Amino acid sequence: MGCHAPCGGFRGGPFNDPAAVWSKGRRSEVKTVDLSELDLRYFVDAETYNCPFCNRRNVVYVLLRGLSFDWSETKQCHVYFVRCSSCNKTSMHLSYDELSNESRYDFKFKKDVDLDANIFYSVPTSFFVMDARIPEAIRELVTEAEGSLKMNFLTGASACMRKAIYELLVVERISGTDYETRIKALKEKYPSIDAELFDVLGHIQNMTSDKVHEQSWDKWDSRNLRLIIDTLKAVLRDIYVEPDERKQRTQRIARLREEISKTGRTKSPRTGTSG
Ligand SMILES: [Zn+2]
Repeated sequence: MGCHAPCGGFRGGPFNDPAAVWSKGRRSEVKTVDLSELDLRYFVDAETYNCPFCNRRNVVYVLLRGLSFDWSETKQCHVYFVRCSSCNKTSMHLSYDELSNESRYDFKFKKDVDLDANIFYSVPTSFFVMDARIPEAIRELVTEAEGSLKMNFLTGASACMRKAIYELLVVERISGTDYETRIKALKEKYPSIDAELFDVLGHIQNMTSDKVHEQSWDKWDSRNLRLIIDTLKAVLRDIYVEPDERKQRTQRIARLREEISKTGRTKSPRTGTSG
């Protein structure tokens, strides 16, 4: 495992930029605190990830090796292979930054790196990280938009997001004469969802005119795209995931209560041996 001279000094050589040298032993400081948010990530930290093959959450992986190649005259790209310790399948990840440590015997991703933010392309894609309860057509478009954004393909990302929003309106059977009216109707359909989310969607520039199928619209810049993607994802979660999770929670509690009342009627587990 690992790679040596033939890969062009992947660990060392061209990577002597002090900014790229991370102090060893510092605790990982990935800014995610909400545990449910960790489930939405590809990589949780330098040791665990959400496996795209077996779909296990927080499973340990092995960083098999890294290689690098010249993406352009001036830019290098790093390829990482990661194997799931549960299902043994290997995924591939690309980054413009060197994300691994230099150890030959304990080859790992650096601890202080937000891997998701630094990896711009993965196979399998992060498709799995969007909840399966969200309609597939919308999931595919949002995933493609995120992938395009990471590669800085802004036109492609913009097109996907426009389509994703219109797809949501179709799936939700929201008709209307213009875009703003339709978003307002969607907002009224879901009064329990934060109205501000719909307001963000309703005021997206270039969506108000009905030009989605025409060539003459401007792409959004990356900051606006990020806002639109995150807003739509929040809306999708609130519409398709949250209600189901609430229902399951309630059912689980009802089951537990039922079990307790059943046990109470027969005998308590502690006194069970006395027969
Ligand atoms: Zn796996």
